[in-house]
Amino acid sequence: MKIRVKNYKRFYITVAFFAAVAALIIWGIFSLVFHVFKPAAAVRSIEIVQPVQTEDTSTLSHEEDDLLMLVNKQNAIPDGYVPADLVTVPLDSLREIKLCLEASDALEELFAGAAAQGYQLICCSGYRDYDTQVEVHNTEINTYGEAAADLVSAPAGYSEHETGLAVDITSASVNYDLVEDFGNTPEGQWVADHAADYGFIIRYPNGRESVTGYTYEPWHLRYVGKDVAKEIMSQDTTLEEYLESKASNS
Ligand SMILES: [Zn+2]
Repeated sequence: MKIRVKNYKRFYITVAFFAAVAALIIWGIFSLVFHVFKPAAAVRSIEIVQPVQTEDTSTLSHEEDDLLMLVNKQNAIPDGYVPADLVTVPLDSLREIKLCLEASDALEELFAGAAAQGYQLICCSGYRDYDTQVEVHNTEINTYGEAAADLVSAPAGYSEHETGLAVDITSASVNYDLVEDFGNTPEGQWVADHAADYGFIIRYPNGRESVTGYTYEPWHLRYVGKDVAKEIMSQDTTLEEYLESKASNS
C-alpha cells in the first residue's frame, strides 16, 4: 500500500513529534533501569552501632602506674601486653570498640556531659591489639609513604591504642572523619574545654609535635584519671612533660 502525502510539512512535523515522544519514553525507561539519576551531592552514609550493655565488672580497676603508662615513639608497650579489663563501650560508635572499664565509664560520663549541652559525639576507634595495629600502620604506609605515615600512626607495639586507654572520637559536623577541623567545631571545643573534668587529655596538642611525636589530633583522647588530666590540661602540657617533671621531683 502506498501512503499518499499531501502536505509534506505537516507529515515531517508529525514524524518528528512521534520520534521525540518515543525517544523520551526510551530515555525514561533507561534512566529507571540504570539509575542514571543520582543525588546531587553524595552524602556519606554511616552506620552507627547501637549501644550494647556490658557485663558488670566494676570490681576491676587500674593501678595508677598503668593509667599513666607512657607509650610513644620511644616507649613501646610491654611485649604481649593485653589490658585485663577490656569492655565493649556502650556508646554510639562507628564500629564496636573496646576500652578498659574505667576509661569506658569515664567516656560514658563525658558523652552524657556533651549531650546535656546539645553536642553529639561518636566513638571511632578504641583498643587495638597488636595485629590490628600492624594492619592500620601498613594501610597508612601504603597510602602516604613511611615518613608521612609515622606522623599520623604508630608501628605495632608503639600505639597508645594498644593500652585500652585511648579513644578517637568524632562528630557529624566533620562528617565522622578524624581531621584537625574537629578542634574548631563546637563539639571539639567542648571536648577540649571539658575532657579533663572526666579524666581525659587531648594527647597530641597543637604545636607539640616535637614532644609527642605526633601532629595535632583533637580527636585522640587518653584517659589518665581526673587529677592528672586537670593538671596536664590546665598547664597546656603533655603526658611526656608531666611524667618527666614528676620523675625529677621525686
Ligand atoms: Zn587515636
